Order: sequence, then structure tokens, then C-alpha cells
Amino acid sequence: MMPDADILIVGAGAAGLAAAIFAGEAAAHTGLRIVLLEGARKPGAKILVSGGGRCNVTNEHVSQDDYWGGPRPLIRNVLRAFDEHRTLDWMRSLGVALKLEASGKYFPVSDSARTVLDALLRRTREVGVELRTGVRVAGLQVDEGGFRVTTSDAHVMLRARRVIIATGGLSLPKSGSDGAGIAWLQQLGHTIVPTTPALAPLVLRPGPEPGGRFAEWSGITCDIRLDLRAGSGRLLASQQGSAVFTHFGMSGPAPMNFSRHLARFRLENPGAAHSVTLGHPQFRDEAAADQYLRDQMAANGTTLASRVVSMLYPDRIARVLAPEGLRLCDLTRSQRLRLASHLAALPIDVAADRGYAFAETTAGGVDLREVDIRTMESRLVRRLHLCGEILDADGRIGGFNFQWAWATGYLAGRGAVAGCQADASAA
Ligand SMILES: Cc1cc2nc3c(=O)[nH]c(=O)nc-3n(C[C@H](O)[C@H](O)[C@H](O)COP(=O)(O)OP(=O)(O)OC[C@H]3O[C@@H](n4cnc5c(N)ncnc54)[C@H](O)[C@@H]3O)c2cc1C
Repeated sequence: MMPDADILIVGAGAAGLAAAIFAGEAAAHTGLRIVLLEGARKPGAKILVSGGGRCNVTNEHVSQDDYWGGPRPLIRNVLRAFDEHRTLDWMRSLGVALKLEASGKYFPVSDSARTVLDALLRRTREVGVELRTGVRVAGLQVDEGGFRVTTSDAHVMLRARRVIIATGGLSLPKSGSDGAGIAWLQQLGHTIVPTTPALAPLVLRPGPEPGGRFAEWSGITCDIRLDLRAGSGRLLASQQGSAVFTHFGMSGPAPMNFSRHLARFRLENPGAAHSVTLGHPQFRDEAAADQYLRDQMAANGTTLASRVVSMLYPDRIARVLAPEGLRLCDLTRSQRLRLASHLAALPIDVAADRGYAFAETTAGGVDLREVDIRTMESRLVRRLHLCGEILDADGRIGGFNFQWAWATGYLAGRGAVAGCQADASAA
């Protein structure tokens, strides 16, 4: 029986669209038929909401150190095959003018994610890929010489020689990414590194101690450091950068980058003692904060303690951390040390992160060692390629997750075409 597609791509998010475009370009004049299936009626929902609706497409500097998850050398080789410079050239070729912001993030000049999505969809059509939306795939079976794919509407069956799975992870499930592809790959024998939300805001427990009074800081943005320590006191993870306090806890780059470390520690060490502290980035420990207070005291002991703290943090935070109405010279040693500890490592009680519904990406996924990263072809199931968030690699905030989607999509799209050609010449 003739297949319905030579290459069937499941999922038209960032990775699936990149795979479709690069497959379409590589297949020019070959007669290969490429079909892209998307479960949602409109593709690219996550692209549209990304970067606050502006889509941070990549970063000025991208390396394996900007990612967590699978083995570093594999992540590095993927990123080398299609690096940030290739992304910039590619976006330019698609007609998307980009601008670099001081943070190192690249955005479209239009400040609109729609520009990026429209350009991707236009190019997908130009290269002859057939996009079918509102078609949700329910299952995938290996068939002789290819695959049978069943769709959820009336169980239509499609046959394809090669399949690229680009169904994403579990973040933002309302966009259509609910981890279905991860389940198929597990059934096909792949190892799935257990998943957790990543890049998610943190929910804090309120309390009478300063760290529990975060609701009084709601709306404040400032630079902080978050440290995760084991019960022994050993430092396990540390993230610093900007944070926004909210009525429920904290959001912004530092808490969101931190969230995956806490989630994975709790997943991998259920019930194990640990602590999370919030500190000012200027102080690596309590001794450094205490030295700062003593220097300030030596310079002008009659300064109010809250005033000294408000040189570091906004007033509303300073009022909670510093003893009220006391001058530096009035502080007892224990009051000064307590203030130093508030500045360097204020305990906060993190109940949880806000989960997949608010996470920007997924930590865990298909083990990278089971994929030939030159073509993103599964090492377990021939002719099956994988790309995007479904894989065990998650980037920090800053355009790194899209860079991963573009790079893996590039490799998978080209790899699938090369694979079809190799299959044909072997036949
Ligand atoms: C709010 C938010 C903001 C973000 N901002 C940024 C940013 O500015 N920069 C950055 O680098 N990253 C950002 N990210 C992360 C980035 O969006 C993701 O890393 C990226 O979209 C992953 O691409 P993907 O194609 O692998 O998966 P997805 O984008 O999740 O795409 C998967 C697609 O597959 C479809 N699908 C799933 N299952 C099926 C099925 N069974 N049948 C058919 N279709 C299916 C889904 O509908 C979806 O369209 C953000 C994420 C969120 C949630």
C-alpha cells in the first residue's frame, strides 16, 4: 500500500515547524511528500504566548551550560549543528528582522510573536509541506517499512515511511501539549527521564517570620539569589537574577530558573530535609553581609538599619528585614547577626512550583543517549525522529528553549529526508 506521507511530522510547535521547513527544503525536487499534523485548530499557540507575546527567539550567546538535563556533550553537539548565528541568519531569511536587547535576548523588531509564527507558517507552505490542523494523533504503531498513525477523530489511519515526533512536553497543556508523545515513546521502549515542570513560578507559604511576609512585597521587582541546600547544609543549586514578588510567591527569571532544581530534588529525594533561602546577590554568605553592616556602622553608626537595607532592596522589603526604628549603633550583636542572615540567606518556605499549567518548559523527557543526535533518529526505533521539548534538555530563561527547538528541528527534518533517500537507494 502507498504511504500517505514519506515523512509525517506530529506537532506544529516551534520544533515541528522547524523540522517541516528544513525537511521541505532538503526534499526540494525529490518528490517526497511531507505532511505536518497539528492537534490544535491553530498551530503555534506556545510561540504566540512566548516572551510575553514578543517571542524571545534565541540568545546572543548559547552554550550547553545554558541547559540542564541530558549529557553535556550531546547538548553541545546539537547546538553546534545549528547555533544561534544560524538562527539569526535563518530568521533573516524568513523575513523576520530581529533586535538584540541588553539582556542578551533576541526579539523580533515588531515586538510581536505573530511575526515569527506567520513567517514559519509561510515558509512551511512555500516548501510544499502539507499542514493539517485540528488532527490529533491518538497512537503510533511500527509497521513494515514505516508507521501507522491513528488520529483521534473517527480513528483515521495514516501510513508514513518516517515519522518525526514534535509533540512537546507537558508545559502549558492548554496549548495542546499534554505529553502524549512521551507516552508513545515509552511504549516503544524508550527510557523516559521522569518529568517535572521547569521555568515555573514558586508558591511560598506565608508566615510571621520575614520570609513568610512576601505578600507585603507583591509587585516589587529586584535582584536576588535563591539557594537550595541539603539537610547537611551542602549547597545543591543557586540561581541569581531578577525576581518579581506576587500575592502567591515569586516569579521572574531567578525563581523560574530555580524551580526545576527544587522540583527535581524533591522528585529524586522524597521527604529529604532541605532548605531554600533568599539572599541579596552582593553577599555570598552571612559573614560577607555582616562585614557590610560593620563597615556601614563604622562609616556612620547613627544611620537607621532600615536605611542601610534600603540601599540594597526596595523600602517595602527593607522595612520587613530590618528591626524598626533602630540605628546601626543601637543593634546588639545578635540583632546585627540576625539582620546579616536575613540579607544573605533568608529562609523561605516554598510549597511548590505552579505546575505545568504555568511552566514554560519540561525537565526530563526522552533520554538523549537513545537518539542519534546527527539526525535525531531514535536508536531504538528505526525511521522515527524526535525533536523539541519532548527530549531531556531544558534551557534557562533567555531564548534557549527555542534555540533547542530550532536546532533539533533542523537536525530531525534534514535527517528524515536523508533517511528516506538512503532507504530508497537501499531498496
Ligand atoms: C508562557 C511561555 C513563554 C515562553 N517563552 C519563551 C521564550 O520567550 N523563549 C524561549 O526560548 N522559550 C520560551 N518558552 C518555551 C518554548 O515555548 C518551548 O520550549 C517550545 O515551544 C517547545 O517547542 P516544541 O515544538 O517542542 O513543543 P510545543 O511548542 O509544545 O509544540 C508541540 C505541538 O504539538 C502539538 N501536539 C501535541 N500532542 C499532539 C497530538 N497527539 N497530535 C497532534 N498534535 C499534537 C501541540 O498542539 C503543539 O502545537 C515559553 C513557554 C511558555 C509556556
